[in-house]
Amino acid sequence: MVLTESALIKEEMRGLQQTVADLRQEIKEMKEKREKMVLPARAIAAARKDVKKMCAYCTKRSHFGIECKTYTSSEQRIKVLTRYGRCLGCFRKSCKNLACGTRCNECGLEGFNQAHCPGEH
Ligand SMILES: [Zn+2]
Ligand SMILES: [Zn+2]
Ligand SMILES: [Zn+2]
Repeated sequence: MVLTESALIKEEMRGLQQTVADLRQEIKEMKEKREKMVLPARAIAAARKDVKKMCAYCTKRSHFGIECKTYTSSEQRIKVLTRYGRCLGCFRKSCKNLACGTRCNECGLEGFNQAHCPGEH
């Protein structure tokens, strides 16, 4: 079988197309792999965010203390923090209230977090 020039070119083209197709497949696989690697990283980041978000009053992780629907008044919130021996300024158990130097962001009352500050706002 004798290949004419055009047949040779055709053969070459087919080879090239095959190479291009292979490369495309390779790129596709690389992209899929990369997406698989990115996804867990995103999930971890989201989980970390959830860990940070914790209500100091009802200890649920779905909201911050300031958004708490269980303990809504500053009176209730102060009561629950006192019961657990937590600082009314920084929420830490180890803290001696006032010593941490926290103030309400709103009125500047010492030793109280804005979320349950009894001061007048
Ligand atoms: Zn809550
Ligand atoms: Zn404190
Ligand atoms: Zn205040």
